[in-house]
Order: sequence, then structure tokens, then C-alpha cells
Amino acid sequence: MHIVMIGTGYVGLVSGACFADFGHHVTCVDKDRAKIDALLEGRIPIFEPGLDDLVASNVAAGRLKFTLDLASVLPQADAVFIAVGTPSRRGDGHADLSYVYAAAEEMAPLLRDGAVVVDKSTVPVGTGDEVEAIIRKARPDLSFSVASNPEFLREGAAIDDFKRPDRVVIGVNDEHAERVLQAIYRPLTRNEAPILVMSRRAAELTKYAANAFLATKISFINEIADLCEKVGADVRDVARGIGSDSRIGARFLQPGPGYGGSCFPKDTLALLKTGQDYDAPLQIVDAVVKVNAQRKQAMGGKVIAALGGQTQGRTVALLGLTFKADTDDMRDSPAIDIARSLQAAGITVRAYDPEGMETSKAVIDGLVYCSDSYDALTGADAAVIVTEWDAFRALDLARAKRVMANPLLVDLRNLYSRKDVERHGFTYVAVGR
Ligand code: NAD
Repeated sequence: MHIVMIGTGYVGLVSGACFADFGHHVTCVDKDRAKIDALLEGRIPIFEPGLDDLVASNVAAGRLKFTLDLASVLPQADAVFIAVGTPSRRGDGHADLSYVYAAAEEMAPLLRDGAVVVDKSTVPVGTGDEVEAIIRKARPDLSFSVASNPEFLREGAAIDDFKRPDRVVIGVNDEHAERVLQAIYRPLTRNEAPILVMSRRAAELTKYAANAFLATKISFINEIADLCEKVGADVRDVARGIGSDSRIGARFLQPGPGYGGSCFPKDTLALLKTGQDYDAPLQIVDAVVKVNAQRKQAMGGKVIAALGGQTQGRTVALLGLTFKADTDDMRDSPAIDIARSLQAAGITVRAYDPEGMETSKAVIDGLVYCSDSYDALTGADAAVIVTEWDAFRALDLARAKRVMANPLLVDLRNLYSRKDVERHGFTYVAVGR
């Protein structure tokens, strides 16, 4: 199978490398010259565990290629995947589909007869119809299919998620597209991954419904955590108590500083917009979005309260900046709101993140970037764990206490036991406990 992947970001690069590893011939195309140049030189432009080896071995085997030139590869492609960004449109929260439609326009004159165009980007219901119309307009006589194949991988565990998915969703309106996609994903059936075939519209909506449901679990447990703090219960007990019910499930029940990242914030907003467009308001999702926005803003206040409300001349160390561990992705990270509210209160913010320092510099101004955890903690009146990186799970608390101005740990990821931290002479503030 000859596959072209348009867009070589987190999704396109991981999917392309994994498809090549299945034995398909894959060319990843991007408009970003720096990205393609890096890949051609053997450098991976994003941080994703295991991706460097996967890319290197498939390039060496001749199954994975990179190019800026769509025209040189598209005419041979059996399937063309669209994996470009679909960020929130400024102002209204609707998904910005300009990159998807531009990709459709660019590929239209180049597609061969029988090609299957597969949308992997997260797109609102009906986008497949529009992509089909764009191509049909340019090529009235071409025989082609448009399918939806939303991606569920998580950054940080992307390769494993792609190769051992809970399910693959294929949205097709014709049998040829189904046959081609079944053939592409056949290697996964050995891992017993169910391939769920449905209509294109159902597949498009499935992705948003999945993300909105996961976001709901997070906002739900965050509100329960707030209640736990008031009533003197430990949210971890409550999460265990409800999560062991198989109807609920234990995952996504860890309270924290609010969800961020490149998907949940924009996808919940886009789903709300779809609900409005079709006159089917989604009140639960609306509440989830509001709860999360308030939570991210409230976390700075939680730190300030832990400092006794004294902010002038104070220094806070943020441990972790990325929206979660094992990624360099800063998009909509809670660290952004936390840093801004601390800075607005006149607090100096020192920060360290194992992989997110460069991406952070582009989105947060005025931080003092440090070389490691202890450098960040030096002279700080409080340490705040924002991201659940392994590097922060076993800090040398005696050393931390020696370098800090004041031994206060605000653990927004509940990584520590209160007893351990207090035994080292710290004041400990966690979430929902
Ligand atoms: P990204 O921003 O990392 O990558 C998108 C890439 O597409 C960029 O490199 C950009 O230069 C390129 N591009 C844009 N227009 C192009 C064109 N016409 N031709 C060639 N290249 C073009 O985005 P991402 O995080 O990989 O997300 C892609 C899509 O997948 C989004 O819809 C996102 O919602 C969805 N998704 C993302 C994740 C995730 O964890 N990141 C998970 C599931 C689904």
C-alpha cells in the first residue's frame, strides 16, 4: 500500500512511522521546511518517546520518506491521509478548517483514480462532505472516496497507542474505502484491535464525543476534589471507590490543575459549536468547559493562599510546564494560567521542565528558566508541581529544603504522601486531600 501523509506533526509523523512499520510505503509531506529538513537529516522535530528509533529504522528500510513536494508523491498514493492542525478559530471556538480545505485543494489535481482520501485530523461533522465537494469540483470525472479515521493516540504514549489501540474507528460511505482502510490496518488485527466501521459522520462525531467524555471525567473529579477539601475526605479514596466500578472505570479520575493540551480544550469548544449549529445544545459539555477554565485560573490563587496571601518579594518554583508528562507540548497548558496569575500578583516565577523549556519560551514571558529542579527551587518560597513528570516524583526533599527560602510544597498532581513531605519539615498542600 502506498500512503501519503499530509501534515507531519504529532499525529502525522507518528501515524506515518507506524504505518511504515506495518510494512506500507509511506511519504510524509509538510509545508514546514525546517521540519522536513530536520527529518531528512535524521532529527525528530518533536519529543515523543521511541519515535526517533521507529523513524530511523523505517527510513533505513526504505519504507518511510519525507518531502515538501506533494506533486512528486501523490499520483502514486492508494490512500492520502490528512493530518494537519485544526486549531480553535479565534473568537468563536469553531474548529479552523482552513488547513484541511487547503490540503484538499492541493491534492485534488494530483489524485489518481481510485484514491482514498482519509481525514485523520479532528474535524466537525460534515467536513468529509466538504472535502469531497472540493475535490469533486476540481475533478468532476475522478473516481475517489473520502473517509474519516479519527486518531485517538495520546502524546507521550503515541506509538503504543497507535500500535495497540482500544479500537480503530473507520467512517466510510462506500465499500472501496472500507476495503482500503481495512487493508491498511490489517496488521493491527493481530493485536486484536477491533476495527469499528461506521458512517463518515458517525466517525467524525465519535472523536469529539470521546474527548468531551474524557474531559467530563476530569472536570467531574476536579469538582469532587474541591468538595473533598471542604469536607475533609481524600479524593484518592473517592476516586478508587468509584473507579473500581467497571461502569465508571478508574482512568481519568486523577484530580489536578485542569486539563490542557492540543485536543481537549479546542475539541470541547468545537463540539459546543456543532451543538449550537444543529440546535442541539450540549449543556454538560458547556459546564465542563466552564469548570475547567475556572480551575486553571484558580490554581494561581491556591498557591498564593498557601503563601498566606503574601506575594510581594516572593519567589515560586514551577516544576513542570507542559500540559502533561512525556511531551514538549505547551498548548493550553495549565502552567500558562498559573504563571500569569503568579506574575500578576508580583511573584517571581522560576521554572524547570524536562522537555518543555523551548516550547514554553514561545508562550510564557518573564519566567526565570532553570537548569534542573534544584536550581528552580533555589531561593523559592514555594515549590509547585504542575506536571507529573517522573523527574518530580522522587525529589530529594532534604536537599530541596536546604536550597529553598521556605519549605512549602504545593503538589497539584498528588504525587507525594503528606506524611513523607511533612516529615522533612515541609508544609504540604495537595489537591482534594
Ligand atoms: P501539528 O500542529 O503538530 O501538525 C500539523 C502539521 O501539518 C504541521 O507540521 C503543519 O506544518 C502541517 N501542515 C498544515 N497544512 C499543511 C499542508 N497543506 N500540507 C502539508 N502540511 C501541512 O498537529 P497535530 O497535533 O499532529 O494534530 C493534527 C490533527 O490531529 C488535529 O486535528 C488534532 O486535533 C488531531 N489529533 C491530535 C492529537 C495529539 O495528541 N496531538 C491526537 C489525536 C488527534
